[in-house]
Amino acid sequence: MVSSIRLNGDKVESLTSLAKDSLPWESCALLLGETSTENLDEIIVSDVITVKNSDSSPVTFSIDPDDLINAYQVSEARNLQVVGIFHSHPAEPFPSSTDKKYMKINPVVWLIYSTVTNESRAYIFEDKLKEVELRVTV
Ligand SMILES: [Zn+2]
Repeated sequence: MVSSIRLNGDKVESLTSLAKDSLPWESCALLLGETSTENLDEIIVSDVITVKNSDSSPVTFSIDPDDLINAYQVSEARNLQVVGIFHSHPAEPFPSSTDKKYMKINPVVWLIYSTVTNESRAYIFEDKLKEVELRVTV
């Protein structure tokens, strides 16, 4: 069971900039990393790969298929896994009904950043939807 996700402040900042630069559309990125060896409940993000939102929409996102394949290749080359999906909301950072549907299909950590409240929240679907603690390191 995943209870927390750890990433450094630089990555949080680059995701925040991506979200703001993508307005009015939602932005998305894939989070690469691995499960912590010390704490099996914790996911550690070591790389962020920006991907294109092919929906160009303020309420939904779809990861461009070529970008998705590329991200998986990069992740394999670096011996990492795709541990999370980031996207931004020009609204509150809570999963939409569409997000919830896809969270069930993609049971990785979903990190949502709100360009309205400047708040980030993380979730995962494990039997049910639950919030994951976001740990930002220096
Ligand atoms: Zn969403």
